[in-house]
Amino acid sequence: MSPDPVRDSASSPSKIDLRSLFLGPKGENADVFERLLLEAFRDHVFWRRNFHPEDGFAVGEMERHTPAYERSLHVLSQELLGLLGELKAGIPFFSPRYVGHMNADLTMASLIGYFATMLYNPNNVATEASPVTTRMELEVAAQLAAMVGYDPELQWGHLTSGGTVANFEALWVARNVKYLPVALRWACEQAGCGDFRLRLASGERAAVGDLDLWQLLNAPCGSTLDAASRFCDEADDPAAAVAILGRNTLASLGYQEFGRRLTRSFGDSLPPAVILVPSTAHYSWEKIAHSLGVGGAQLVHVPVDSRFRMDTGALEEALRRLAAERRPVMACVAVLGTTEESAVDRLDRVAEVREGSRAELGLCFHLHADAAWGGYAISITRDADGSRRSYESALAASAPEAWPREGVYRALCAAELTDSITIDPHKLGWVPYPAGAILFRDRRVRELVSVEAPYLFHEGGSEWRNLGRFIFEGSKPGAAAAGVWMSHKVLPLHAEGYGRLVSVTCKAALALHRRLASGDWEPFVLRVLPTPDLNLVCFAVGHPDLRSLEQTNALVGAVYRRMSVSGDRTARQVEYFVTKTVLRAAEYGEAPLPIVEDLGFGRDDYRRAGGLGVIRCTVMNPFVGSPGDRLDFLEGFAKALQRVLGEALEEVLGRRVQRSSLLT
Ligand SMILES: *Cc1c(COP(=O)(O)O)cnc(C)c1O
Repeated sequence: MSPDPVRDSASSPSKIDLRSLFLGPKGENADVFERLLLEAFRDHVFWRRNFHPEDGFAVGEMERHTPAYERSLHVLSQELLGLLGELKAGIPFFSPRYVGHMNADLTMASLIGYFATMLYNPNNVATEASPVTTRMELEVAAQLAAMVGYDPELQWGHLTSGGTVANFEALWVARNVKYLPVALRWACEQAGCGDFRLRLASGERAAVGDLDLWQLLNAPCGSTLDAASRFCDEADDPAAAVAILGRNTLASLGYQEFGRRLTRSFGDSLPPAVILVPSTAHYSWEKIAHSLGVGGAQLVHVPVDSRFRMDTGALEEALRRLAAERRPVMACVAVLGTTEESAVDRLDRVAEVREGSRAELGLCFHLHADAAWGGYAISITRDADGSRRSYESALAASAPEAWPREGVYRALCAAELTDSITIDPHKLGWVPYPAGAILFRDRRVRELVSVEAPYLFHEGGSEWRNLGRFIFEGSKPGAAAAGVWMSHKVLPLHAEGYGRLVSVTCKAALALHRRLASGDWEPFVLRVLPTPDLNLVCFAVGHPDLRSLEQTNALVGAVYRRMSVSGDRTARQVEYFVTKTVLRAAEYGEAPLPIVEDLGFGRDDYRRAGGLGVIRCTVMNPFVGSPGDRLDFLEGFAKALQRVLGEALEEVLGRRVQRSSLLT
């Protein structure tokens, strides 16, 4: 008998029973949820009453019975009922039948924490407006950084509205660090200290005034930050040094003026620096390249292998080519859990390639992990005391399922080698929006993006008082921070906490993958993408009557429309929810070809069609693998899909198909 991962904790009092964490698909935990919400609300009202009780009441009992007063309250009540009615047209993320987007039921801890805090409406832009929740925000960021393995004394991190802004900040920092040695050189010229020294990629130290642009733009990140702090700290007038350095930065001058000065100063301003991302990268990177003025053309896609992980051989080649062209590399991004496939790039190998390119090619760059999706999976690598678990014990905990694979585990551990990492609590943290997180290895980088920096490279007792100075966003909900904070309390960031929840969903995804791969779909052809690294399952479908890949992609579209809220189909009319995506030839290159060929098409068809359409299932509902007393998700899903395939084929062919030939 295969053990039920959601239930296996019931008999073991030391383990968290995962079913106790959520409101539940049928509101099974409604009692406790209601009690705690009411508790939070009443407690808030007591707080109001007891805050300067001598103030008396602003509204008297009798005044609340005037017609105008009552009318307004009636409108409120009526409109709430209207809103509640409208919300039923929303998407049932709580249901195990929903395996569409990256959304599911949320932890009760986060919802109650959020609701309770929302009543106080703290603004985490500055502690003045959030004495409690800014501390919580920095605390949860520190917890995430500890899980990743950054030095707690050095790390810096905070919450964002999501992965997009987190990635934005990472690249903002990477860009500013990249060009800082140039600013330093100009500042030294102006301050008359051209012999100021910087440690190079080779490990040697040299005077900034003697370096060419290529050497300056390939100084190791840590060395750049050391040099900038020394420049300010060792100056006779540190404040003046800060100001001179600030005036020469890219942030202050802007690309146009900076570029003009580069040409003037060095003759050859070198080609623009690039950002290396795998071809599976989230589309936010394109927006970020556009908005930072880096330019979308500087985004270089590194091909992925047949498992949809960055091809590290191709990365190595790309770096050699770039070094030969003397094109600086601003950053390399590895994805831990791609948005379409949940593929985990071999970050351990990417880090090796980076080290090799520093030693061999003299190429240094910022390494960022986009773990918006997979970040919480790093918790499987931690024991309760925070130490790193062995791969063998992680594997044993998932038995009999062989998950995670060793490469995935090594990649998750290697997150500690990055300069920055994006992790979205509002994805595999099961907390409400908005909650992304950006973490940096070296806290000094925040000075490069801060406005008005009187504490530049100096540690002050409460330098984080004005969070808004160091981050891109301004006003932001303290309630979101409290939600994450509460969730981490109930479910800590180690293998027995979040690790179990994440792995339960990964195991359910593997079960879905197996069910789809082994099903008899005749006469349809169903091809799953390779076994997922985490918890997304994608598959393509075809039929012998469909003569082109375009038509086959249309079949995927027709299946998707029947398994999602689209057009005039409401949530009630949908049995199971999925999403779809297109593995576009322009980004994915050859990676989807094996599947295209299984469907009976070739490279030319794939190029002509522009890509391969696939159905995408996000398995993050913990009840999918263990749904309860009646619904067997896997069988129910397979049956519904079987039916939908028949209808979808008729739509694409524009004629009725003999049902008997569909359901044999
Ligand atoms: C979701 C996601 C993002 C963007 O995050 P948002 O929170 O939607 O802004 C970025 N990268 C990856 C890999 C993602 O999965």
